Amino acid sequence: MTKQGFTTRQVHADRRLNTPEHGGVHTSTSNSVLFEFKDAQGIIDAFQGKRAAHVYSRSSSPSVAALQNMLNELEGGVGTLCFSTGMSAISSTLFALLKAGDHLIVSQYLFGNTRSFFETLKDFGIHVTYTDVTDIEQVVEAYQPNTKGVYTETVANPVTQVADLHAIGQFCEEKHILFMVDNTMTPPPLCYAKEFKASLIFCSLTKYIAGHGNVLGGAVTDTGHFNWEKYSNIKPAYQVADKAQWGITQIKKKGLRDLGATLAPESATAIAVGMETLGLRIQRSQHNALKLATFLDNHPGVSQVFYPGLADHPQHFMAREQLTGGYGAILSFNLVDGVDPVSFLNEMELVICATHLGDNRTLALPVAPTIYFENTAEEREKMGVSDNMLRISVGIEDTDDLIADFRNALHAVSS
Ligand SMILES: *Cc1c(COP(=O)(O)O)cnc(C)c1O
Repeated sequence: MTKQGFTTRQVHADRRLNTPEHGGVHTSTSNSVLFEFKDAQGIIDAFQGKRAAHVYSRSSSPSVAALQNMLNELEGGVGTLCFSTGMSAISSTLFALLKAGDHLIVSQYLFGNTRSFFETLKDFGIHVTYTDVTDIEQVVEAYQPNTKGVYTETVANPVTQVADLHAIGQFCEEKHILFMVDNTMTPPPLCYAKEFKASLIFCSLTKYIAGHGNVLGGAVTDTGHFNWEKYSNIKPAYQVADKAQWGITQIKKKGLRDLGATLAPESATAIAVGMETLGLRIQRSQHNALKLATFLDNHPGVSQVFYPGLADHPQHFMAREQLTGGYGAILSFNLVDGVDPVSFLNEMELVICATHLGDNRTLALPVAPTIYFENTAEEREKMGVSDNMLRISVGIEDTDDLIADFRNALHAVSS
């Protein structure tokens, strides 16, 4: 059978992959923290890794496992683990895989909290070089003998710089180092990071995957590209029979189990339901995003628009090659000098002023004084963040209503 379409697979994924009890089409929410073994040998075998079984729900439970199967299928991985938030997926994984003295090459255009976490890693003796990931030369230049990997987002937020995934993936493969990609901004069907040789794919499930602004979650997927035998930090206890599982096993034990940022079963259920409409929501959102970006680009009250789908975006051609399912639904723009972003936002009626993205509703945020408040002016400039910049996460509203709201607010502040 030829591979079915994206949404066909999504709406049937839970039923097909997890065969829920009683013929249900969803896996039900299972709250048990502990699991009984009628034959005591069973719990011994489970502890010793000789048998796969749920033992204690901090490490695994049925509803979370069902979601992990669905995410693993979505990204084409050899293993996926869920966490309580996107940040805990990132932090738990990096704590599990790194040691003092290791070096990482990290995108200089990062989600603010991730950037803040890399600063914490520095305090633990991990060396970090921030670099411009749109330019492979700069990534290559940052390489050192102790470099363990490269970390980047597919499309950066808020300025939408597009990482050269193709060239970085090639480089990481040659050097046998990890290629870690945060695909939160462009989940499938927009970008399949595995095609660019990503080793680990991170995702904040809170955003597009869940989609409705009512649940937090995060995940890491091992794509199977990386040869863990080349990674010196895998502990002997986690060098299990199947070499493809070394990395995810260490992340599960040292990251999920020991740090304990477990996804709640109720959250797993909510995320799984949200995933059914991922393709529909994201198509509609990015349709709106292109219309809105074009409108803003032509408006005299706007000085600059950042959206990878616009022909004059600096990485438009890279985006076209890498974002095979479309350019996403995040855009930013600068108001012309003299127009106060706060007054503009207060004129909006439909669009919500909130810090979140990937929601069904269109959201707007003044970025410099909020998510980049802790950074210096110099750091903000390096990331391309200007003082009168607004980030828009475009939702699924009817296009005309959305554009009317922007038109009215721009008119109100410029008159
Ligand atoms: C939101 C976000 C995160 C963190 O996810 P949470 O679920 O909010 O912890 C990480 N990376 C990117 C790119 C994000 O947008």
